[in-house]
Amino acid sequence: MPSSTVENYLKAIWSLQGQHEEAEMVPIGQVAEKIGVTPGTATTMMNQLLKKDLVKYTPRRGVLLSGAGQKAALLVLRRHRLVETFLVEIMKLDWAEVHEDAEVLEHVISDRLLARMDEMLHHPTHDPHGAPIPNAEGELTPDGTTVLADCPPGAYTLQRVREDQPSFLQWLAEMELIPGTDLIVTDRNLEADTLSLKLPNRAESVQISLPAAKSLLVARP
Ligand SMILES: [Zn+2]
Repeated sequence: MPSSTVENYLKAIWSLQGQHEEAEMVPIGQVAEKIGVTPGTATTMMNQLLKKDLVKYTPRRGVLLSGAGQKAALLVLRRHRLVETFLVEIMKLDWAEVHEDAEVLEHVISDRLLARMDEMLHHPTHDPHGAPIPNAEGELTPDGTTVLADCPPGAYTLQRVREDQPSFLQWLAEMELIPGTDLIVTDRNLEADTLSLKLPNRAESVQISLPAAKSLLVARP
C-alpha cells in the first residue's frame, strides 16, 4: 500500500483534475496549495510519483494521473467513503462529524476490514453525503448530476453534498435538506447572489447563497 502522503497527493490531483477540462494538465501550484505545502515540495513529490508511474508530469506544465494513479486514487476514495458510511450507518455518528476520522482511517484500514465493512453495509453504492463509492476495482460510475447553483427555477432532487464543513452539514440536516430530498428552485437572485428554495417540510422559502449551492448536486426528479 502506498504511504498516506502519496495517497493524499493522488487524491488531491484526482479532485483538481475534476475541476479542469479533460486531459488538461493540473498546475503544480494548485496541487501544492491543496495539500498545503510549498511548490518546491510538491515538485519533489511529482518526481517520486513519476518514477512509480502514478502520474504524467511535465515540468512547468503540470501533472495528470496515469491509469495506475487514477486507480490508486479511486481506491483511497473508496476507503474514505465506505468508512464514512460505516461510521454513520453502523456506529450511528452524525453525518456532519465523520469526515475528519475518515481522512485518517482511509490510510490505515486493511483490505480485510474494508471488505467486512462493505459486507456489513450490504455493498452500498453511495456514502451518507450521496457521493458514489468507487467499486473494488477502482472504477467510478458518473452519476449525471448538476450543480444546484447553475440550475434555473424548477423541480430537482438533491443527490449529493460535496462539502465536508460540519457547520454547513448540520445546517442542511436542520433544514432536512439531505440526499433524496425533493426541492423547488423558485428564484435565482443574481444581485444578492442567492437561490430561493421551497423544501418539503418548510412553509417558508429558504435562501441559500450561490457559493453554498455549488456544493449541492441535484438531478431532475
Ligand atoms: Zn469525507
